[in-house]
Amino acid sequence: MLKSLLFNLTLLVTLHYVLAQSYRSWPVAREGLGYWSRLALFSVTPVLLMLVPAEIQEGIFIDMRSVPGAFVTLVYGPLAGVLVTLPVALYRLWLGGSGVVAAMSSLISVLVISSLLRHVMLRRPGSWLHWKWIPVVFCLNGVALLLLPDGLNLFTQVYPALLLFNTVGAVVGWGILRDRFATLRLTRDWRAAAVTDALTGLANRRQFDEDASHLEPGDVLMLIDLDHFKRVNDTFGHQVGDDVLREVARRLTGEGRGRDRAYRYGGEEFAMIFRAVPEGAIPSVAERLRLAVAAQMIPATNERVTVSIGAVAFSRVPVSTLLARADTALYAAKEGGRDQVQVWKKGGELMPEQQEDPVQPDTDS
Ligand code: GH3
Ligand code: MG
Ligand code: MG
Repeated sequence: MLKSLLFNLTLLVTLHYVLAQSYRSWPVAREGLGYWSRLALFSVTPVLLMLVPAEIQEGIFIDMRSVPGAFVTLVYGPLAGVLVTLPVALYRLWLGGSGVVAAMSSLISVLVISSLLRHVMLRRPGSWLHWKWIPVVFCLNGVALLLLPDGLNLFTQVYPALLLFNTVGAVVGWGILRDRFATLRLTRDWRAAAVTDALTGLANRRQFDEDASHLEPGDVLMLIDLDHFKRVNDTFGHQVGDDVLREVARRLTGEGRGRDRAYRYGGEEFAMIFRAVPEGAIPSVAERLRLAVAAQMIPATNERVTVSIGAVAFSRVPVSTLLARADTALYAAKEGGRDQVQVWKKGGELMPEQQEDPVQPDTDS
């Protein structure tokens, strides 16, 4: 008896492990091929569990066929729960026999109670059914045995074991699935945190390095450095300095369109990647960016901050070379008096907005 109980439980664990592996990313899609394939996988599970029942007494078998359907109902709703339970219900109907009504009402009771509990769960988003409610899901499972001749006797033999068995199965099986959800959720959050700057919320240097290694023709890379930012910190303190960085980040982000993206490159230095910019438009795009920061007072200081910008258009050179060129242009903008834009140009010349002196790209980088 113990052997068959353990076998049914082991099968349940194995099947839930396989189901858990079918979840690859968070959030989980609730449509498309992946969703329907997963429901199909869930619907096979109860049939397999029913094929190898546990014999609790001679001639009396129980199994955990209700466990997957309850989980699907709780997570995806009653309709999905019914779909997942349908194959095992049809199989049981096909088998027939005197217990068929009791078996059907057990399956239905689990679906109904799971649906009601889902309703309660949905009122508190992000919460999951407390473990103490799991026996409630299965509390009517087996009650219809009382309708059978000698029902009371059968009920007292089957019901406690069934309730315990289903509860243990749900705790273990759902635990596997929920652990998988937690891992996927954490992976999503940590992955996002790894490429996000905590202060400004912009993409960080790691993301910049990644994106900069996939630049395409037409892309433009800009390095943006705040002018005399040390003075802001010295005058207003670091906290206000942080507020200024946040506000600048917001203004830079506002200038992006489509796949354009702003980054915090480090300290008070930002970067932007603009996509599909016609070569002749680079100075005006950079100038628009400069004005987006400098044109209005920063609320935290009631002062304006200005930026110097070094821009470079994509060409088929190593990223480090592109960055060195942008840096050269930025340096020229600083040297030229700050609050200005410099665009690196082929041949080492800078394409000045206000700048007179050409700067050789290799001298500074
Ligand atoms: P320049 O015009 O030449 O760029 O002058 P600058 O003062 O902006 O440049 P410098 O490199 O001398 O100073 C940069 C300052 O940026 C110094 C540093 O305290 C400040 N800074 C860097 N990161 C942060 C930050 O996260 N928060 C704050 N509040 N300040 C920062
Ligand atoms: Mg600076
Ligand atoms: Mg700097």
